[in-house]
Amino acid sequence: MDAIKFQHQQIFVKRDDLLHPQFSGNKARKLAYFLDHDFPNITKLIGYGSAQANSFYSLASLAKLKNWSFDFYVNHISPYLIDNPCGNYQKSLSLGANIINLGKLHPKITCPTDVYIEQHVSKLNALYVPEGGRSHLAEYGIQVLGKEIADWVTQYQQDIKNSHNSLNSVKVFLPSGTGTTALFLKKYFITNQLAIDVVTAPTVGGDDYLLTQFAMLEENAVFYPTIWDLGKKYHYGKLYREFYDIWLEANKSGIRFELIYDPVGLLALKQYLLQQDNSTELIIYLHQGGLLGNESMLPRYQRKFGDKC
Ligand SMILES: *Cc1c(COP(=O)(O)O)cnc(C)c1O
Repeated sequence: MDAIKFQHQQIFVKRDDLLHPQFSGNKARKLAYFLDHDFPNITKLIGYGSAQANSFYSLASLAKLKNWSFDFYVNHISPYLIDNPCGNYQKSLSLGANIINLGKLHPKITCPTDVYIEQHVSKLNALYVPEGGRSHLAEYGIQVLGKEIADWVTQYQQDIKNSHNSLNSVKVFLPSGTGTTALFLKKYFITNQLAIDVVTAPTVGGDDYLLTQFAMLEENAVFYPTIWDLGKKYHYGKLYREFYDIWLEANKSGIRFELIYDPVGLLALKQYLLQQDNSTELIIYLHQGGLLGNESMLPRYQRKFGDKC
């Protein structure tokens, strides 16, 4: 946990970006189950998604650590990326990932990648990790994260017991994609009777969509994190001036943040800090890694809004 100043306030940052040189961040937490368990008959990992995705690199790292071969299916790779490999794509290939471009193999195919894999790809001795799926297995790694945060909070509360500062509440802020991490984190805190709030904001599809995502994983709304309403709907992966600005501001702390999810989490945090008196709150921001994606996102931002780094 690192202490930083953000909006003139002390914020603690949980550094999941530093978990492991190759296997770190949010996807490593969600895939921890596979790293920690033995799969005696498995020799191959199968996944799919975007050629630039953090999950591509995390799956490639997992396969490498487990000594499995790795087939990753995509429906498209931009010619620019093929000629100028960078970020998650380049690193995954260097770890030995075998990328299969369905768009090129079967130009006429119209079914989604996951349907294609279900129907046409042999799973013999293979472990198939669907893109958003396997949610019950993701809970395993998020519980470990929850415990790390809770243990740190307990220690911190002990340490400041005799000082004049008393804490009224503890909040963890994080941006959501599928919302899996935020939900299982909140569920862990509630289940273990820990008074730690979880506040999140959507990078995909808005508040209603995020609620639907929670509902798919968990019926009981008691376990749902607080959704911070940013007051504006953003589109996943698009470039926004306020995203770039808050990213530049947060980087002044000395910690590098990422450019797709973090701007949303940081904007929610900033709005929150501006609206209330937080002097008696302990606020934690969860840094979920994904920094390799900056290799392609940062040049896009610099082209669009100029280089202010
Ligand atoms: C995948 C990812 C997220 C989103 O996690 P969800 O559990 O899908 O909400 C957030 N930040 C980073 C860096 C990620 O790679």
